[in-house]
Amino acid sequence: MPTPDPDYFQYGGNTSCIQITFSTGRIAILDAGTGIRNLGNDLLRNSHEQYDNISIILSHTHWDHIQGFPYFEPAYDPRRNFTISICGKERMGKELKSLFATQMQNDFFPVPLEKMGAKFTFLQPDIIAYENPWGIKLEATKYSHRGDAYGYRIEEGGKTLVYCTDVEHKDGIDPNVVALSRNADLLIHDAQYTPEELEKKKGWGHSSWVQAIEVAKQAKVKNLALFHHDPDHNDTFLRNMEKECQKRFSGAFLAREGTQVAL
Ligand SMILES: [Zn+2]
Ligand SMILES: [Zn+2]
Repeated sequence: MPTPDPDYFQYGGNTSCIQITFSTGRIAILDAGTGIRNLGNDLLRNSHEQYDNISIILSHTHWDHIQGFPYFEPAYDPRRNFTISICGKERMGKELKSLFATQMQNDFFPVPLEKMGAKFTFLQPDIIAYENPWGIKLEATKYSHRGDAYGYRIEEGGKTLVYCTDVEHKDGIDPNVVALSRNADLLIHDAQYTPEELEKKKGWGHSSWVQAIEVAKQAKVKNLALFHHDPDHNDTFLRNMEKECQKRFSGAFLAREGTQVAL
């Protein structure tokens, strides 16, 4: 749930969306939450000319990870091409394209997906490892979250980013998440709850900040961005949480709207 409230301005109230800029200047996008609106406006403002293909890679299709897409201005430009992808065909029998089209049906939104203008390619590969011609490697892992979600490890030029949001560690820390995160330069990990909140929210599909730190330590990552803040945690709450996190792991910080990290 976006939280555009005065006491949420410091950390930001948009739902999940991350831009990756590779060494060539080409970009890719992780998730299409409400943050993608600002991201799109930013691309236009900077006249970013990647018309051939911008990858939008999704962790999963829960609303907070796709709800910004109808407001993503570059998707209305007929010159632009996007590949929207998620690992795995088993989206409970639904095609990725139909999930995007559904949220733009006239009951919910005035412009249908096919009238936006840009060219979209929807992909649901079964592969979990891929290397593109420019030497960018991608590895995916499925983990526990209702309807399934995927974490991604992305490597270029010896630098590694790992994105693991909407992950619930059942029966201790998921070893697959640790394996995916091994020695990452930056791990972005779900940290929606406090340990106390997690007790009451079993089955809601998220991690506590303590678990995020545990993954970071076990995987020996350099830096940890705690991500996917709870809509009921305001700036004061998050500031205190961030201090606690940094006591336990010096490379930890809370993700904020507009934060840029160079790897
Ligand atoms: Zn989710
Ligand atoms: Zn989510």
